[in-house]
Amino acid sequence: MAEDMRTLKVTLLGTGTPRLQTNRYGSSALVEAGAEKLIIDCGRCTLQRLFENGTPMLEVNKLFLTHLHSDHTVGIPDLWLTPWAFGRKGPLFVWGPKGTRKMMAKFEEAFEFDLQMRPVHDKILREDARVECEEIEEGLIYEAGGLGVTAFEVDHRPVRPAYGYRIDFEGRSVVISGDTRFSENLIRFSQGVDVLFHNVAGVHKDDTGLSERERSISDLHLTPEEAGEVFSRSSPKLAVYTHMVLYSDIGEIISRTRKTYDGPLEIGEDLMSFHVGDTVRVIRP
Ligand SMILES: [Zn+2]
Repeated sequence: MAEDMRTLKVTLLGTGTPRLQTNRYGSSALVEAGAEKLIIDCGRCTLQRLFENGTPMLEVNKLFLTHLHSDHTVGIPDLWLTPWAFGRKGPLFVWGPKGTRKMMAKFEEAFEFDLQMRPVHDKILREDARVECEEIEEGLIYEAGGLGVTAFEVDHRPVRPAYGYRIDFEGRSVVISGDTRFSENLIRFSQGVDVLFHNVAGVHKDDTGLSERERSISDLHLTPEEAGEVFSRSSPKLAVYTHMVLYSDIGEIISRTRKTYDGPLEIGEDLMSFHVGDTVRVIRP
């Protein structure tokens, strides 16, 4: 059945964590609505997954960062420079928390050699490698073609600021949590959304057997029981886990979530797509 032009699509490009995995790449999602294509976060191999998804890279020039942890940003030089080398016209637009402008300026410094050489031998324009940065605060940060992106603060302390994004299009809506602990603010911004994408940590926080490193990682995120409470209080049509840290068994993540949430739940996978229309269709890779 043909989808109408009002469908809001989200494709998970990377559902992984800093840990190296071949089946889960770094954090990233592609949002498509009408003529708009947005990338949310840019972890390891984002451009590679975009290619696997069949998305023309020259059409992608808008990047929104939830926070500046490397597992959400190491894919940026690839997303920025490779399409440029193949003929992207115009700058890469980047929205992100305080610190984004400095990071992007340092990337420009680091890749100065490439920025100078390619215009010489590839006959492309240096100005098309320009970066236009906007450092964001909570609120509506982007609006075009009927689509709106609202940033809201989440709790990833000591990483501050860290944001989640709510995307609205033609009465449809999704929320991407970014990395967060249990966040009342996220619940406030997620009321009744169609799809809520959320991170989770699979450890029991009261487990005395945790190493110091495991404990500090788990402190940045929330348990499945807590995530279930977030889902119950937000009432999305569909809840989706992505960016699952410190887990050994997906079944355990699900059963622990079920202690506090009995609504629809999916475990996100790389290249899984969600088509939000009158209903939510899940397209598996
Ligand atoms: Zn993080």
